[in-house]
Amino acid sequence: MDIKSVTTRCCIVGGGPAGIMLGFLLARSGIPVTVLEQWPDFFRDFRGDTIHPATLELLYELNILDAFLRLPVDKTYQIGAEIGGKKITIADFSHLKVHCPYLAFIPQWDFLNFMVEQAKQYPEFNLLLQTEGVDLIKENNRYVGVIAKSQGEQFEIRAELVIGADGRHSMVREKSHLTVEALGAPMDVLWFRLSRKDSDETFSLGKIDLGRILIMINRGNYWQCGFLIRKGTFDSVQSGGLEAFQQSLLKVSPNLKDRVEELKSWDQIKLLTVTVDHLTKWYEAGLLCIGDSAHAMSPIGGVGINLAIQDAVAAANILIPAFQKNNLTEDTLRAIQDRRAFPTRWTQRIQVFLQNRIIDRVLDKSVHPGIPLPFKLLNKVPFLRRIPAYIIGIGFRPEHIKRFD
Ligand SMILES: Cc1cc2nc3c(=O)[nH]c(=O)nc-3n(C[C@H](O)[C@H](O)[C@H](O)COP(=O)(O)OP(=O)(O)OC[C@H]3O[C@@H](n4cnc5c(N)ncnc54)[C@H](O)[C@@H]3O)c2cc1C
Repeated sequence: MDIKSVTTRCCIVGGGPAGIMLGFLLARSGIPVTVLEQWPDFFRDFRGDTIHPATLELLYELNILDAFLRLPVDKTYQIGAEIGGKKITIADFSHLKVHCPYLAFIPQWDFLNFMVEQAKQYPEFNLLLQTEGVDLIKENNRYVGVIAKSQGEQFEIRAELVIGADGRHSMVREKSHLTVEALGAPMDVLWFRLSRKDSDETFSLGKIDLGRILIMINRGNYWQCGFLIRKGTFDSVQSGGLEAFQQSLLKVSPNLKDRVEELKSWDQIKLLTVTVDHLTKWYEAGLLCIGDSAHAMSPIGGVGINLAIQDAVAAANILIPAFQKNNLTEDTLRAIQDRRAFPTRWTQRIQVFLQNRIIDRVLDKSVHPGIPLPFKLLNKVPFLRRIPAYIIGIGFRPEHIKRFD
């Protein structure tokens, strides 16, 4: 039987923040691109919800910021935590020299749908939903395409460049045998919803107490909750029973007393495994990984989406002239890794430091934790809060949209 074959210049596996942004930027420059997304839509509630000042600045440079801000965006100028019952402020974004000095909280599906709407203005943008990349095509030591599967049917997508933007469990990185360096994470996250009342706090919260850490993201009429557990212990949490889990939540957040019983079955609670790693080499001839596929990020600081988007912009800035001049080589791909490896490594180093110094210790001890000295300083000296604000909100080596006329 003949396998149907589609040809494009760039085939991107994965329609997350990295894949959709890169697809948009290439199509905008007239480069035919096909993006594969395995799900039929973007309504996955396990996606992070934060759009950072650096990403908002990119939307401004693309002239789509005003349209984005017409969506229901929740603006957060400061972030803090509640540690052992004491509220502290850790980062203050309001002094950043950008058009939007705040974190924009918006369900990620709204952001992705918005970016897809923008991208669809360009005929070169082709998004195939419900289409999974299942294997790579390699000929003469060069990747030349992807085997895709949609509704039970397999077909080939031939391309000059294959991009792996397929997240932490990337098919592209697995099939290309790129070497992964794991940095480890002491925790996993249990992800669930609890209803939100008008009288509740309006901003998103992180609560730390009695050996427990609970993140609560305001999504209007419900809280999207993330409860940290020690890695690999979900089975024992489950065997302890749902009631014991509800009690555990109340220890860190007693004001959820009237709501924890909304959790009636383990089906309502999803396990998100946390992985922190990076590829030692992000590319091979004809293939490049970006975003979590190149470097899986910890949820700490909620910076993964921003990094994925910055990778996409850096990749576009380097790929567009190479596509235009027909001289896309391994050096082009190496230049993208060289540009993005530094911000990735430093962000991951900070995440791993915080995981080991704070998360690991909190999960170990069922006591009221003291406030770590750096957090005490940040809480006392407002000026210092600009430092974490810059690292979280802008990040190392922020990218800008280049113009190619
Ligand atoms: C528990 C948890 C909470 C987090 N919270 C935040 C947060 O609040 N803010 C933040 O910035 N970051 C957060 N992160 C990190 C963030 O989710 C990632 O860093 C970010 O989503 C990476 O974007 P990406 O586009 O590289 O990959 P992804 O967002 O993972 O997107 C990959 C896409 O590829 C698709 N895909 C996968 N395989 C295939 C295939 N074979 N074929 C076709 N499609 C495929 C997937 O369906 C998905 O849509 C969190 C991470 C975790 C684990």
